[in-house]
Amino acid sequence: MNPKIDNDENIFRKVKCGICKKRVSTRLCDFVVDYRQPMFFRDYHDFSEQQLHGTCDMPMCDECAKSYNNIYDFCPFHYGFIKKIQPIPEMKRAITEYVTKDLLNF
Ligand SMILES: [Zn+2]
Ligand SMILES: [Zn+2]
Repeated sequence: MNPKIDNDENIFRKVKCGICKKRVSTRLCDFVVDYRQPMFFRDYHDFSEQQLHGTCDMPMCDECAKSYNNIYDFCPFHYGFIKKIQPIPEMKRAITEYVTKDLLNF
């Protein structure tokens, strides 16, 4: 029995990390999973409260969070996903070719 841990009330108020389920979460996944378009605004309050996109919001601890470009924190799932959605070199070549042809009017 460890009295220090047992006496820490905060541990029960804090959300556990969704990945390791051991440590306390310190951040949320910033990956945008849902774009929401505002339909209409009744007043300025509605306008300022609008949420243009919903993020994954997976609670994570420092150890499990993956930093992307030193700006965003992603959960391991979305961190792997963001790497997969980058075009592979062959695709990039095709894209460049298309853009070049378009610009030069071939
Ligand atoms: Zn964790
Ligand atoms: Zn995520």
